[in-house]
Amino acid sequence: GYRSRAAFKLMEIDDRDRLFRPGLTVVDLGAAPGGWCQVAAERMKGQGRIVGLDLLEVAPIDGVDFIQGDFTEEAILRQLEAALAGRPVDLVICDMAPNITGIDAADQAKSYYLAELALDFAATWLQPKGVFLVKVFQGAGFEAYMKAMRARFRSVAARKPKASRERSREVYLLGREVIEAA
Ligand code: SAM
Repeated sequence: GYRSRAAFKLMEIDDRDRLFRPGLTVVDLGAAPGGWCQVAAERMKGQGRIVGLDLLEVAPIDGVDFIQGDFTEEAILRQLEAALAGRPVDLVICDMAPNITGIDAADQAKSYYLAELALDFAATWLQPKGVFLVKVFQGAGFEAYMKAMRARFRSVAARKPKASRERSREVYLLGREVIEAA
């Protein structure tokens, strides 16, 4: 079985948008407990490279390499870059979410901070035709983030899978084709 409800959301998005193919190099940010990595490994049929990163430990999955650490830390980012060994990345998927403090504005700000770092990473490491999928929350910061996505990707679309509860503010943004920095 899948380790997370999130796995079903990703499968729904992939059924429509065809993110995974055998042979791709994929980075999964905020990978624990491993549901998205399971979907990636399955749909890539064991061909390609999947690197998952999380603060938490993830139980092993065939065909997936894990890095445990904080994505906001320079040293962990270097570790991720080393794992990629200069290989251009085809797909970055990000489901990172901060520990909820119960203070909504603070959670929202933290969540966008992580999403912004993920966007920077994706725009830097993706090959020109690369794809970036990121979960964000509607509310404060959404419009600014959309704008930042549009500045970095030629096409940006929003996806709300059925498996995502109606009242949940989460929405997945899908960027395609990196715009070269001037
Ligand atoms: N996509 C995953 C799956 O399908 O199993 C679920 C991801 S869960 C919603 C969000 C994850 O983001 C948590 O496991 C959390 O530890 C991770 N996370 C939050 N902040 C992080 C950070 N600074 N660096 C790395 N991971 C982080």
